[in-house]
Amino acid sequence: MTNEELMRRAIELSKTSVRNGGGPFGAVIARDGEIIAEGSNKVTIDNDPTAHAEVSTIREACKKLGTFDLSGCVIYTSCEPCPMCFGAIYWAHLEKIYYANDRKDAGKIGFDDDFIYEEIAIQPQYRKKPSEILLRNEAIEAFKMWELKDDKTEY
Ligand SMILES: [Zn+2]
Repeated sequence: MTNEELMRRAIELSKTSVRNGGGPFGAVIARDGEIIAEGSNKVTIDNDPTAHAEVSTIREACKKLGTFDLSGCVIYTSCEPCPMCFGAIYWAHLEKIYYANDRKDAGKIGFDDDFIYEEIAIQPQYRKKPSEILLRNEAIEAFKMWELKDDKTEY
């Protein structure tokens, strides 16, 4: 399938999602033009705030391929990924992101993508949601254990 055909499939999934009570977002993960996995936003359907189209599709693709590493695959998403999905795409090692609507379009219909991107750019102490460091000296022990572990699976 061409890039346009794969994106049209993601857009179709976003429309189907609206009809079925989900958010207006769809995504497709493909390798060499072949669809590996499809997904749509299921936040309100599954009561899962992390069930964005991209995250759902990454989970599905990883399950199908039996790996946590989607190197060699690309994602087509009907909207520019929010910071959570953007991070997930990097963690999954997807090669490229194609998106259609952008974060400003999403903001216009009431989604927080752009606001969260703005928050990330601000120093933690000035963000709307406060962050506070607590018990770092105890938590660091797990990092030391990881560093010394010889048989770890790195990702
Ligand atoms: Zn997202």
